Amino acid sequence: MVSIEEARRRILAQVRPIGTEKVDILSAVGRVLAKDIKSALNMPPFDNAAMDGYAVISKDTKGASPGNPRVLKILEDLPAGAVPKFRVTPGTTSQIMTGAQMPKGADAVMMVEDTRRSGDKVNVLCEIKPKKNVRFAGEDFKKGKIVLRKGTLLRPPHLSALATQGIKEVPVYRRPRVAILSTGSELIDIKQPLRPGKIRESNSYSLFAQVLSLNAEPILLGIAGDREKDLRRHITGGLKKADVLLTSGGVSVGKYDMVKDVLKDLGMKLHFWQVAVKPGKPLMFGTINKHPIFGLPGNPVSSMVSFENFVRPALLKLMGRQDLFRPPVKAILTHKIKKKAGRREYQRGLVEVRQGKLYVSSAGDQGSANLQAILSANCFIILPEEVTVAEPGQEVSVEMIDRPGFSGSIRG
Ligand code: AMP
Ligand code: MG
Repeated sequence: MVSIEEARRRILAQVRPIGTEKVDILSAVGRVLAKDIKSALNMPPFDNAAMDGYAVISKDTKGASPGNPRVLKILEDLPAGAVPKFRVTPGTTSQIMTGAQMPKGADAVMMVEDTRRSGDKVNVLCEIKPKKNVRFAGEDFKKGKIVLRKGTLLRPPHLSALATQGIKEVPVYRRPRVAILSTGSELIDIKQPLRPGKIRESNSYSLFAQVLSLNAEPILLGIAGDREKDLRRHITGGLKKADVLLTSGGVSVGKYDMVKDVLKDLGMKLHFWQVAVKPGKPLMFGTINKHPIFGLPGNPVSSMVSFENFVRPALLKLMGRQDLFRPPVKAILTHKIKKKAGRREYQRGLVEVRQGKLYVSSAGDQGSANLQAILSANCFIILPEEVTVAEPGQEVSVEMIDRPGFSGSIRG
């Protein structure tokens, strides 16, 4: 049995990004940038107005007040997109709109709210300092400087930055194809009626969604019974289609748990089996021709938690991400929790905000075969290996769980 850290170290040592491709900017959200992007231009490209108003020489406004306005002659109107024709000289101004290029000579923009117009003249009602309400060329990005770094997860603002640079074809890391195989002779496909002694196969569906939520590409291989031939056929087929293989079930110590042996027969190098974590102790990790293979335990909660703890960081690394782990936060425990020493526990919990503080409670029965608690949980309560009891009022580490439309959120 290895520690969680050792297991993660061995996994991450085997995975690296699987290649890059170009995608249209409209498909780039959620992808990971594969190259540093240097600014091809100064942004903004020219000095421009940050407000609707009048481009003025700040000195001209000295001493101006509502009772003692300065009168300036208007030279021209500068809507956004216009190129100024006239230089602003003492005693003159140009009307200017937000985003329009500053005319030569002017060094500030007087807000329209601080002016009163009369014909081709304008009364300026207050003083203004130089540079006020002007956006200067290159103040956001300087030409040649890095705007976006390789490894950035592209979110909506990054698409705006790419568009500003004129980049329609975006270099991103490839999405790994992740094959998912459920194993167990008791498992019935979702479309089939239940029969005595059988249960519906469900891990494929949670794993499919977990893979998809990371923006990797899930491939369902279906169900293999606990028979060597059946396992062999499904695994061989899966490896042809995918970069990564996830199996669930059949990696424990039962008489019919033969996933590990079948994989070894197929040439798998075993990197570890069994981790000091609960749930998820039977986890297995190996590689066949550099393809990472995770043998996840069969209990539905164990499969999901093992994915979050071990598969998620591996898939993120394969996709070029640098932030592989969720940062834990501290919350105050509302009740006593007892556990055995030896394994780190990831209990399903519910974080709530009360008077601005985070409190955490158990989300219910912690049995790894029971879905109830994980259905309402928004976090894992992390209880270290050596701990045997955690008391109410004590601070504990929690990890918020990402869920679509509920990303890492906290009940308030
Ligand atoms: P195993 O790891 O194969 O010993 O399975 C542990 C438990 O998880 C057993 O009760 C299995 O019936 C159950 N199980 C295994 N695979 C699945 C699956 N794909 N969907 C639902 N339950 C499963
Ligand atoms: Mg089984």
